[in-house]
Amino acid sequence: MQTDLIAALDIGGTKIAGALVGEDGQLLVRAQRPTPAKENAGVVMGAVTEVLRELTAAPEWPRAAGLGIGSAGPVNASTGTVSPVNIPGWREFPLVAGVRETVGTDLPVELVGDGVAITAAEHWQGAARGRAGALCMVVSTGVGGGLVLDGRIHPGPTGNAGHIGHISVDLDGDACPCGARGCVERIASGPNIAARALSEGWLPGPDGDATARGVAAAARAGDPIALASFDRAAQALAAGIAATATLVEIEIAVIGGGVAGAGDLLFEPLRRHLKSYATLSFVSGLEVVPAVLGTDAGLIGAAAAAAQGLRLPPFATGA
Ligand SMILES: [Zn+2]
Repeated sequence: MQTDLIAALDIGGTKIAGALVGEDGQLLVRAQRPTPAKENAGVVMGAVTEVLRELTAAPEWPRAAGLGIGSAGPVNASTGTVSPVNIPGWREFPLVAGVRETVGTDLPVELVGDGVAITAAEHWQGAARGRAGALCMVVSTGVGGGLVLDGRIHPGPTGNAGHIGHISVDLDGDACPCGARGCVERIASGPNIAARALSEGWLPGPDGDATARGVAAAARAGDPIALASFDRAAQALAAGIAATATLVEIEIAVIGGGVAGAGDLLFEPLRRHLKSYATLSFVSGLEVVPAVLGTDAGLIGAAAAAAQGLRLPPFATGA
């Protein structure tokens, strides 16, 4: 039988999704379970196994040439283990071995962090398509990312390269849960945008929405504190993006996630701040654009990362 599909798993703190992905990025068979994130390791793995069993039961399953896993991080692709911050039951958890138990050892498996997966998706089918150098990011409850270098995704040895959320852009800034200070995520994530607005005296509107979405609504109505909180997030992102561009010469930064959904409220100040951080000739033309792919990006990207990592012929990714 022709092996023209790639199986994909997208593992996050709220859902575990699976699919069989075709060579244009279309999802042929899908399965999903909520993540029992507060349960022990075996229960979480049980949900993964249920998703995999649905996929392996599909008539299309024998067409799968490989399996890609994109997981909340940190991951360790070199050992096949994951330790997602938002799934405390999994620490150095042998996810790849567990997946092999269900799908068999014949099928090649590739593990990457979720930031690398969305990068692979945007490079294959989205806003970074055809680009030689790109940084793709998700800005939501956390800030993650990944890199395209020389036309290929660059996961790094452990599958975490490009994790821009935890580079410091404020030397003496607030302590970050990762242990460092002034990280991009500590300033630009949705919860931190909301927390900063609240601490500066912003009051949620009549709907009581005290999240970044509420701050965005207030900013659109001209609230100066809300605007300032978005501006500060944009500044942190601009500094991080400029640093990345200066290090590895990316030509485009693609930003998705809930906070990016604020649109010009984020992108306008971001492009403005970028002018003051990305100053050298080789980075001054850097583009910043919204991500194209939505909630399926994790699955599409897990497949794309597997296609590249496992050198599976039907997929043109990174060619
Ligand atoms: Zn950090």
